[in-house]
Parts: sequence; C-alpha cells; structure tokens
Amino acid sequence: MTASRSDRLVRVTDLLDRPGASRRVDLALPVPGGLVLDLAEVTGPLRLTGVIESVVEGLLVRGTLTAPLRLSCARCLRDVEQTVGADVVELFSDPDEVDADADVDPGYEIVDGALDLDTLLRDALVPAVPYRPLCREDCQGLCATCGANHNVEQCDCTDTITDSRWLALEGLRLPDAD
Ligand SMILES: [Zn+2]
Ligand SMILES: [Zn+2]
Repeated sequence: MTASRSDRLVRVTDLLDRPGASRRVDLALPVPGGLVLDLAEVTGPLRLTGVIESVVEGLLVRGTLTAPLRLSCARCLRDVEQTVGADVVELFSDPDEVDADADVDPGYEIVDGALDLDTLLRDALVPAVPYRPLCREDCQGLCATCGANHNVEQCDCTDTITDSRWLALEGLRLPDAD
C-alpha cells in the first residue's frame, strides 16, 4: 500500500477561528508511513469516524479509530483477523497561536489549514493492539514438547512436562541440615 502523506491531511479551513462550528467526519486513512506494530499487521485502511470541533484553543478531534489487523494467536500461533478500536480525543493547535508554556503534544498541530493525522493515528493505534490475542477464548494452544496443536489433536507429552518441572525443583532443594 503506497500512500502519500497528504492522504492523511484533513482540510479544516472551514472550521478555523470559528469556535462552536463543527463537522462530522468519516475518513478512510492509509496506515502511517513506517508504522511497525509488535506481532500485528494492518490489513486495510484505518477508519476515523467522529467530529472535528472548533474551540478557542484550536480544533478538537473526537471520535473512534478502527483498524483491521492480522495477529497471531498467543497460544497456537494461528492467524487471527481482528478489528480493533480506540477512542480518540485530541486537541490540534496552531503552533503560532499557542504560548510556549501550553501543554500541547508535538505533532498535533494545524499546519497550512490542515490537520496532519499521522501522529494521532500512531498514538491511538499502538496501544489498541491486543497484548495476547487469542483465536478463540478457549484455545488449547500447542504442546510445548511435540508442537501438536491441542485444538485438533492430543498427545501424551503433558504429564512428562509436569514431571520434568518437578524434577528440576527437586534439584534445587537444599541439602538436609543435619
Ligand atoms: Zn489459538
Ligand atoms: Zn505433545
């Protein structure tokens, strides 16, 4: 998927310096350039639905970001297709009008009458990726010894693993103190 940075720009000249004005948005956005997620791949455009609101401090973007992801099941490594969502509430400011002490995230700026959503998309998406995705809640996982997928077959290894763990603990036991 090739996309230029301008695809993630939203023109907002109609809202600037008009506190109280707002516009609903439903945007399909390309994945931010160079975005790499841990153990996940974005499989389609991101979608941002919500409202851009003109406020005294700038423009407030409120809405929901959704992204289709391909992940690996944390137990059996099978591909999992999942759409994740994240709530977004971010203030974009005109850097020329913000005083230096204001607590504004760099990257959330209004530049040349447009919002650059690149940073917002990254910041919202990264924490939305599931930490331990599962293909299903009761996924049985893989056997750590023989690799058998316990969702489809059983093996005889389970007891052996438990036994060898106990044996390792035996070895750590302190000698009798007599
Ligand atoms: Zn699984
Ligand atoms: Zn096994």
